[in-house]
Amino acid sequence: MSDCIFCKIIDGEIPADKIYEDEHLIAFNDLSPQAPVHVLVIPKKHIASTEDLLEDDAPIMGHIMTKIKDIAKLVGITNGYRLVINCGEDGQQTVPHLHIHLLGKRSLQWPPG
Ligand code: 5GP
Ligand code: ZN
Repeated sequence: MSDCIFCKIIDGEIPADKIYEDEHLIAFNDLSPQAPVHVLVIPKKHIASTEDLLEDDAPIMGHIMTKIKDIAKLVGITNGYRLVINCGEDGQQTVPHLHIHLLGKRSLQWPPG
């Protein structure tokens, strides 16, 4: 997707502080961190949101979920973390390329706002 910020990060057109990358995903620091660790984990395939996931995307999404613990280790998280996926308007999704927020290194509040 030519006008998607996260696709531009994947293509290297926009710089990002990259933590990890493989065939299916890229993980990089959020520009506006909400916790001492705030990493975004995104599929390399442009998928706008969880509403747009297809059955064929199951292997990619499964792969991403199994890599989260490795990415958490890479950024030094040792005491748990939170994963957040915002979807659509009420979910306050601002970038229409599916992304998982990985938040850690502080005790997080619950419930979210
Ligand atoms: P959303 O609100 O869609 O769940 O999350 C989008 C996230 O992307 C926000 O936390 C925002 O700070 C982050 N973000 C937006 N643009 C950029 C960018 O160009 N680079 C990086 N690293 N993060 C971005
Ligand atoms: Zn995209």
